[in-house]
Amino acid sequence: MKIDSVSAQQILDTRDRPTIEVTLISGETIVHASVPSGKSTGSHEAVELRDADGGVSTAIGNVECEIAALVTGRQWETPDELDAAMIALDGTPNKSRLGANAILGVSIAAQRLAAELAGVPLWRAIALRAGTTPAAPRLYLNFMNGGEHADYRLPFQEYLFVVGGKTSEAMPIAERVFKKLGERLERESRSSTSTESVEVELLQKVPMGDEGGYSPKFEELDKPFELLAALVAEHPGASIAIDAAANALRNDHGGYTLIGRDYTPDELRALYLELISKFPFHSIEDPFAETATEDFTKLTAEAGEVIIVGDDLTVTNPARIEMAREAGAITAVLIKPNQIGSVKEAIEAVQMTHANGWAAVCSHRSGETDDTFIADFAYAVGAHGIKAGGLGQKERREKYERLLEIEKEAETV
Ligand code: PEP
Ligand code: MG
Repeated sequence: MKIDSVSAQQILDTRDRPTIEVTLISGETIVHASVPSGKSTGSHEAVELRDADGGVSTAIGNVECEIAALVTGRQWETPDELDAAMIALDGTPNKSRLGANAILGVSIAAQRLAAELAGVPLWRAIALRAGTTPAAPRLYLNFMNGGEHADYRLPFQEYLFVVGGKTSEAMPIAERVFKKLGERLERESRSSTSTESVEVELLQKVPMGDEGGYSPKFEELDKPFELLAALVAEHPGASIAIDAAANALRNDHGGYTLIGRDYTPDELRALYLELISKFPFHSIEDPFAETATEDFTKLTAEAGEVIIVGDDLTVTNPARIEMAREAGAITAVLIKPNQIGSVKEAIEAVQMTHANGWAAVCSHRSGETDDTFIADFAYAVGAHGIKAGGLGQKERREKYERLLEIEKEAETV
């Protein structure tokens, strides 16, 4: 693979924040890649380089100068070789010099270019690179947003509807459930408000959160689960997941606060176990803060079949995944390529996850673009699941639509 030119430009993500889009040209072939951005970030994530005003012009400069000088005009045997060279050029443990956003943009674009030049679908090229068996991931659809991803703060960040099987069979179920949930939430908001017209008007349209799921206002902790469980009951095999994103629930006295009530770590664990016993749970992500590894371990030991997923705890970082393995802290890892900053290392994180006998759940970020790389990546590595948001936002739907395309490609390749 030979790259003739590298350029980058600023685009806006779904929260209207600047992010990077990279373009690579090789002969007649032109490819693009853009980089998402998180809001509830773990402290061990690779560094997303931003200017003082939040822009990405320094990161763009790094792509167009230092990285372009490295990657153009020579023959790369594999995308791994190119990623390794960019990581070495950065020279820091967390990509703070050139920026994980700068490096990942080129890394994804290079993977796309390699697939195009080889004449194979992107997912197949990733699978060959990773040595994995492609398979359709379960869909983890974010149907209700809370925490830092919504104005009306439900205590947990994500309430997910989980459905497996072929994407072409799972998606119609997801569409039906999302619509039904919207109708139920509208009815709920009408019945829970007074007849004073202004308030009724405001609440009748259920707002959307950052990830394209509804963002209702409930004071009762069980309410979102009751609604989801009723919909799950109509679809055998479906289940519920949450991302508690518990970094954001921490209070000043060593515990957590949910809807105005304080919980010690043990009380919060008891709450999760109670929820698991009452509702059809599939998984819980980040049940505790990223520093509370021992609380993860206790919950994992008691959670039975329910999967405990590390996100801010593990940040797609092989060293953090190894730390979690030694502690027996989790049974699944959320894989977000921009937490680590290259496709090469994201693949290594998946390989480690699988070697531990754990599930890999590949994930978008709360600030997204129309790049659908994560869909190809999740399918390619045979991920247990993909988190790509709710169905109320174009950039989230595009990931699911790409999975549908992949299903068709896989039938013909
Ligand atoms: C998450 O926490 O899993 C998530 C997708 O949100 P963010 O991108 O804000 O980290
Ligand atoms: Mg998370």
